[in-house]
Amino acid sequence: MSPYPESYQSPQHLPFNQSALNGRFQLAPPGTAPDEPGVTVVLEKGQVLRSNNPACGLLCEAPLVEELYGDAPLYFGQWDDLPCRLVSLPDAQTLPSDLALQSLSAPDPGLPIEQLSLGGIALQVAHWHNNSQFCSRCGEPMVWLPLEWGKQCLGCKVSHFPHIHPCIIVLIWRADEILLTRKSSWPENRYSLVAGFLDMGECLEEAVMREAKEETGVKVVDIEYAGSQNWPFPSQLMAGFFARYDGGDIQVEENELEDARWFAIDRLPMLPPRRSISRYLIDSFCRQSR
Ligand SMILES: [Zn+2]
Repeated sequence: MSPYPESYQSPQHLPFNQSALNGRFQLAPPGTAPDEPGVTVVLEKGQVLRSNNPACGLLCEAPLVEELYGDAPLYFGQWDDLPCRLVSLPDAQTLPSDLALQSLSAPDPGLPIEQLSLGGIALQVAHWHNNSQFCSRCGEPMVWLPLEWGKQCLGCKVSHFPHIHPCIIVLIWRADEILLTRKSSWPENRYSLVAGFLDMGECLEEAVMREAKEETGVKVVDIEYAGSQNWPFPSQLMAGFFARYDGGDIQVEENELEDARWFAIDRLPMLPPRRSISRYLIDSFCRQSR
């Protein structure tokens, strides 16, 4: 049985947002690390290491792995009032038999929602840390700022801050139909919503209009903000919208998509998992339309 709910109170409570941690984790910058033992999340190749014992999940066996591979752990907050650290293993390590790699974006990662969300935040922190070892301005090494999330270059002294990439995701509707798209890499018959990164100089609503036009050829109006979700694959902020169809025939952007089409809400194809804001928007629209 899936450990995830059939519906969420609001987008704020979706996995990977801090509210989904239910108060069990408080993010804190590495410069504030307490000098005490705690728990560790171990990462490899964008996945988390989990114990085969379901009662342990992400955290139980982690100190053992830390000892085995000897990488310096990075503090990133408090889990149940204990210091929480992460370790990124080099690729292709041989893992102990009671530990396995788990993708957090798998159809059912099987972790409790708090651990799923903690793993997502760990991935996001590790991604920025690993990609900000050197200054993008002068190439010198960087060190953590003492009290906030950021690093300073030892050469030119410029400060750099974590990179979070804003994206829009939009449910486009007309009467009781919604416009869904699919990529060729997805499982057969799986569809989702129009989505994309913001361009420079663009507001969220402008990105909704542009992505709708670029991906599917349609115009939209009545753009309504619905909520957002942190999406740590590797570091997006998904801003969700509803928008009403305002004309145009579907023209699929073939560089990105395999298909785009209207679906009646009582005849939908395979949809993304319920833990994503795309599914949240679809479920919300279907509930309101019934
Ligand atoms: Zn520099």
